[in-house]
Amino acid sequence: MNTPWGFPDFDAHEALHFVTDEKCGLRAIIAMHSTHLGPAAGGTRLWHYADDADALTDALRLSRGMSYKNAMAGLPLGGGKAVVLANKTRTKTPEMLAAFGAAVDSLCGKYVTAEDVGMSVADMIEISKQTRFVAGLPVGGGEVGGDPGPHTSLGVFLGIKAAVKRALGKDSLNGLHIALQGAGSVAGGVARQAAAEGARLSIADVDRGRAEALAAETGGNVVTPDDILFIEADVVSPCALGAILTEQSIARLNAPIVAGGANNQLATAADGRRLQSRGILYAPDYVINAGGIINVSTEFLGDGGPELVRSRIEAIPGRLEQIWAESAATEQDPACVADAMAQKLIGRR
Ligand code: NAD
Repeated sequence: MNTPWGFPDFDAHEALHFVTDEKCGLRAIIAMHSTHLGPAAGGTRLWHYADDADALTDALRLSRGMSYKNAMAGLPLGGGKAVVLANKTRTKTPEMLAAFGAAVDSLCGKYVTAEDVGMSVADMIEISKQTRFVAGLPVGGGEVGGDPGPHTSLGVFLGIKAAVKRALGKDSLNGLHIALQGAGSVAGGVARQAAAEGARLSIADVDRGRAEALAAETGGNVVTPDDILFIEADVVSPCALGAILTEQSIARLNAPIVAGGANNQLATAADGRRLQSRGILYAPDYVINAGGIINVSTEFLGDGGPELVRSRIEAIPGRLEQIWAESAATEQDPACVADAMAQKLIGRR
């Protein structure tokens, strides 16, 4: 029998909760990887998975990623994540959100949720009717909260600039070509900031209309999802879904830098080494994309205002520099270096 403990990505998860509400059709998994540094915090993803094992693997990988992300961002939070197993049309009803909120509440604060792919600020409002262990809620001007996406975008943009400085010796993105996979919340913010600095953008999304709208707004051009990772560019920025860096795709990359907001970009640990042996500078995903959880954490814990959020996000390039420097010194790839740093912080080494 294939139990959750036997899953390759189980990695000593502290707890897994399987949520079922037959009345409203909710099926969800809440994964808590580590509460060593604080409550397990990480967003909820609503996605149509090929099968249950696929959903569990996603939850486990995302949850561990949150432990590493929160630790590396210096936040007093552990790592967790929830996935809602949606149907093909990704139907979401108020009853499902209410049942999910009640499930989060039943964990008494050991897990704190927020938005991820397929979930919006409006959904967090619905969930907040059942539990206070939710962030990413709308707030008034000058307060911390709301959609984490723009904060993630800021960190990714600053991280791309740090990678460009390190790999290409340039202080600006002016004139550089950035290939963006995805045209959603994170990619949108990255595209606008990069375009404002004079970057040339190529954009792909499986939802072509989204790619076209973002390209029209930023002066970019639309590329097919099949081609975007492989065009000649200065930076490839994966901002869609995970596991897109594989033995096959890495062999075909045509850019000196991979730096983007998507979670779990590497299909396996070996892919970090593959990027390094091709001389491609990689920005570990959970380090560069921590801006959103930094905002969520500051909102949830109430430990500061927008200035603190900004300064925490502005620390992301420095953390990447530290990882790249250690990678250069030890000849270990950046993802491996980051994992080791994070594991130490959460007491797993
Ligand atoms: P989003 O749903 O707003 O956008 C994702 C976009 O990717 C969608 O437009 C979707 O159509 C597109 N897409 C899916 N598969 C694709 C493919 N194969 N090729 C091209 N496009 C594809 O989500 P988002 O909030 O922008 O998040 C994007 C990524 O960043 C996710 O991996 C998410 O987990 C990660 N992330 C997001 C945040 C945040 O604050 N929103 C924080 C950290 C990490």
